[in-house]
Formats: sequence, structure tokens, C-alpha cells
Amino acid sequence: MKTIGLLGGMSWESTALYYEIINKEIQSRLGSLHSAKVVMFSVDFEEIERLQHSGNWDKLGEILAKYAQNIENAGADFLLICTNTMHKVAPQIETLIDIPIVHIADTTAKELLKDGIKKIGLLGTAFTMEQEFYKGRLSKKFDLEVFTPSQEDRELVHKVIYNELCLGECKESSKQEYLRVIDKLSKKGAEGVILGCTEIGLLIEQQDSNIKLYDTTSIHAKAAVDYALDN
Ligand code: GLU
Repeated sequence: MKTIGLLGGMSWESTALYYEIINKEIQSRLGSLHSAKVVMFSVDFEEIERLQHSGNWDKLGEILAKYAQNIENAGADFLLICTNTMHKVAPQIETLIDIPIVHIADTTAKELLKDGIKKIGLLGTAFTMEQEFYKGRLSKKFDLEVFTPSQEDRELVHKVIYNELCLGECKESSKQEYLRVIDKLSKKGAEGVILGCTEIGLLIEQQDSNIKLYDTTSIHAKAAVDYALDN
């Protein structure tokens, strides 16, 4: 079994899910007392969030690359960046480590293509919903038609992530707002919706919606297990 590297803490609420899903998955695939080999570095998210919102992405790339090097040096065979948003600096991190990064958007896109989905809704932070590194990657690399919410709804989705979900708060009113936004994406023609922020799964589950939801936390964590067990 390979050792999984987790660059987490963005937020810790979702990194805890990664840890749980990975271990449950290893246990269910291998049985008995098996559990995952994991090296994790968990950041102080307040420092990261300040740099994100002041647009200091070069500095963020530098910081996360240093943490990724620590993970590599501690024995990880490959790396997961446990957040969609911070994949913005994945190219910068990649150049400074020798282990591969399992990319969250690529693993999610592969699930969509397996299901024959071509038109997809995307929820996440404003960075993820609006920028080339994520939205653009889905359309250019995987030929997906990506639908995002209106400007007003993007702001709402973004605020709920930082002001509630990353603090472990799941409000019924926010859940209803998210379901309204998901419904609108479906009416625009989306055949499924990517929960493209690793905390959204804390708020919304598949049973809440008629449209197929793709939870990036779960998809990414299970892809790590595939990779760890692949000889
Ligand atoms: N975990 C979130 C994501 O998947 C947002 C927190 C962050 O900005 O990293 O994008």
C-alpha cells in the first residue's frame, strides 16, 4: 500500500472527512484491521484565507509548496491538496516536489465522463466557479459544458462557505438557498452538479436533490485509495 499525503486544514472540517473516508474505504476494501498509511500537514486556515482574499496567490503557492515538501520528506508517495480552491497553485507546488499530485478536478471530471455527463453545474468558492484553473480546466481538458450560478448566487455560495461551512456551521436556511441554486442550474440544462468545495458535502447530501451530485471530497478521497492500492 502506498502512503497518502494530505495537505489539509482548508478547512479542517473537510480534512476530517478526507481522513474518515480514506480509512473507511481502505477498511472496506482490505478488511480486518487494515487502515490507510497517511502523512498529513494541516495548515492554519486563517493565514491562508487572508492571502486568498488579498489576491496574494504567489505567496500562497510558496507556503503550500513548502508544506508539500514536508509531506514528501515524511514519506508520502503522492499528494492530495484537500481543497478545490487551492488547486489554483497546484502548478507551482508541482514544480517543487517529486511526488505526483492527484488533481481534484481531474478525478471529478473522470467520474462525470464515466456517467456520460457532458453538461455540468459547478458550485464552489468564487475562485473555483469563475477562474480558469478549475472551471476552465473542466471545459478545456475534458470538453465539459460548465454552468455556474448568477453573480448574486455565486456571492451567496461563496459567503456561506467562508462564513459558515469552514466554521462547521450548517444552517437550514443556507441549505435551502443551495438547493434553490442547484435547481436553477438543473433548469439551465445541467445534467449533474459538482459540489466543488470540500465542505459542501457537510450541508447537502444526494438525498436532498433529484439531480445527481458529485461530491469532490468523496470522489477525491476514494481516488486516493485507488491510487494507494494500485500496484
Ligand atoms: N475547501 C474549500 C474548497 O474546496 C474552500 C476553502 C479554501 O479556500 O481552500 O475550495
